[in-house]
Amino acid sequence: NVFRQPIMAGNWKMNPTTESDALNLAIGFCALVDTLEDTCGLDESDTCTEVVLFPPFPFISKVKDIVSEKGVTVGAQQVYYEDKGAFTGSVAASMVKSVGCEYVLCGHSERRTLFSDSDVNINAKVKKVLEFGMKPILCIGETQEEYDLGITEEVCAMQVSKDLAGVSKKDLENVVLAYEPVWAIGTGLVCDAEDANKVHKFIRTVLAKMYDEEAAQSIRIQYGGSVTPESVDGLMAMSDIDGCLVGGASLFSDKFARICNFKA
Ligand code: PEP
Repeated sequence: NVFRQPIMAGNWKMNPTTESDALNLAIGFCALVDTLEDTCGLDESDTCTEVVLFPPFPFISKVKDIVSEKGVTVGAQQVYYEDKGAFTGSVAASMVKSVGCEYVLCGHSERRTLFSDSDVNINAKVKKVLEFGMKPILCIGETQEEYDLGITEEVCAMQVSKDLAGVSKKDLENVVLAYEPVWAIGTGLVCDAEDANKVHKFIRTVLAKMYDEEAAQSIRIQYGGSVTPESVDGLMAMSDIDGCLVGGASLFSDKFARICNFKA
């Protein structure tokens, strides 16, 4: 059995609304989360839980300065796929890399629906993030309508194949997937842990066909959608859930710290 390091991510979205509130949230979280070392086995450093925060762009640098002492890393909620130039309002991969981002969210459902991010654009962004030595967290998942139609697997398979088109097996080692049923995001409707685990296992079968079994078993797949301190332990007990992507609860330092300090 392949060991996959757990990874917890906090997506702050367009919150908090001022720098001081953002820094206070980071400080509060650091006071409560176990250090990376605390979550490690005594001699197996690879059993630590990785924690990543995704603050809004203007707060990334200062949040990084605060949380790095705890071994927590930072990422960007999105980037554009062009390198530079006349793209008013856009942020390039090199820019977030240069302020210390290690991860970038790609294909979040809010980007897909509110900002018309297509699978073609998402694929270009995933490749750009990899080109700059960062790690994409690629978000996929079915809408409520698709769930009702019973086509969750078809939707996930399609998104995985389009969004990862042309990504090599070597580059896949730096990709994290997040299965986020859209009907569970921000709704309080957490997906049943067993049901989510089945989808995660299915996603691995898709990857085994695209790459091979080793790649499919090695990739980390987070669950996202209304994760709370109450639901995290049950989710993390599942064989194929390797972490959580957390929105709402990551805006409360105590809730997100408890999620990161999950009990397996
Ligand atoms: C998200 O934005 O990725 C998310 C899962 O949000 P929430 O935890 O609020 O459902």
